Amino acid sequence: MTANPKTRRKTSLTQIRKGMLWFSIAAAFLIGIRHLMPGEATSGGSFDTFCPFGAIETAWKYITSGQTLKSTNLLNFAILSGVLAVSLVAGRAFCGWMCPLGAAQEGLANLSRRLGGGKRRVRGKPSPAKLPIRLPAKIDRPLRYVKYLVLVGVIIASIFTLFPPLHGFCPARAVFSFKLTSGLLWSVLITFIVTSMLVERVWCKYLCPLGASLALFNKISPVRLSADFQNCNHCGRCDIECSMGIQDVPDDLSSVECIRCLECLETCARKDALVLKVIEP
Ligand code: SF4
Ligand code: SF4
Repeated sequence: MTANPKTRRKTSLTQIRKGMLWFSIAAAFLIGIRHLMPGEATSGGSFDTFCPFGAIETAWKYITSGQTLKSTNLLNFAILSGVLAVSLVAGRAFCGWMCPLGAAQEGLANLSRRLGGGKRRVRGKPSPAKLPIRLPAKIDRPLRYVKYLVLVGVIIASIFTLFPPLHGFCPARAVFSFKLTSGLLWSVLITFIVTSMLVERVWCKYLCPLGASLALFNKISPVRLSADFQNCNHCGRCDIECSMGIQDVPDDLSSVECIRCLECLETCARKDALVLKVIEP
């Protein structure tokens, strides 16, 4: 039996996304290894200079003095510009397609599912695995606002610090830099691994200030998912697959939580119930 063209198109999008996530993990580890080389840490800029959020952390210092916070430089602004360009076109697609921390969380959730007995998982059906869990709505909903508080807190703190405020406990440094120079970073690493195995994309949902910065782009970006309610029968398959835990996916496709991973599109069995399209301005 041959797959119809629609199925092939959707599957290839998923494969490209998975490939990009693997690439982002490899790139992050390579940057971490590079800074272990003799002389590289001082000559090539720090691990932090590759972080798009580093530009937001150092923006106040740069605007007010023309200098950047320690461990950041203009490369942060160049990388943030690229992320913003992607976001202008496709909302939080950076989170779903390019972020190494997002990729690590997906990998850890998959590992957790397998360890928890979810090997025979069928798309669109609840996994038999006990983990990862979804937090109850009354806990999940208020926690989603924490990432905005983190963003505001970091911006305010950046006025008073020499290093980027997240420098000492950034999960990207803990996971990818190979420089666990403090007990705090070890704690962050262990917490990140454990919580990502307990709750899917826990960092993206509740804590990431970069995700918070990009959230509003979901409301204006032209490339987005759209539901056709003539074809959707509200079967709920897409809700089950959404790693960001969006409730009623077809009704909430411009949610600030959507990371444009397209798992809902991949899962939907109804022809043209969900479509990826470009909205005209
Ligand atoms: S969009 Fe597809 S998977 Fe989602 S509820 Fe509608 S028919 Fe089901
Ligand atoms: S709504 Fe669809 S594209 Fe958005 S995060 Fe959920 S599964 Fe991914």
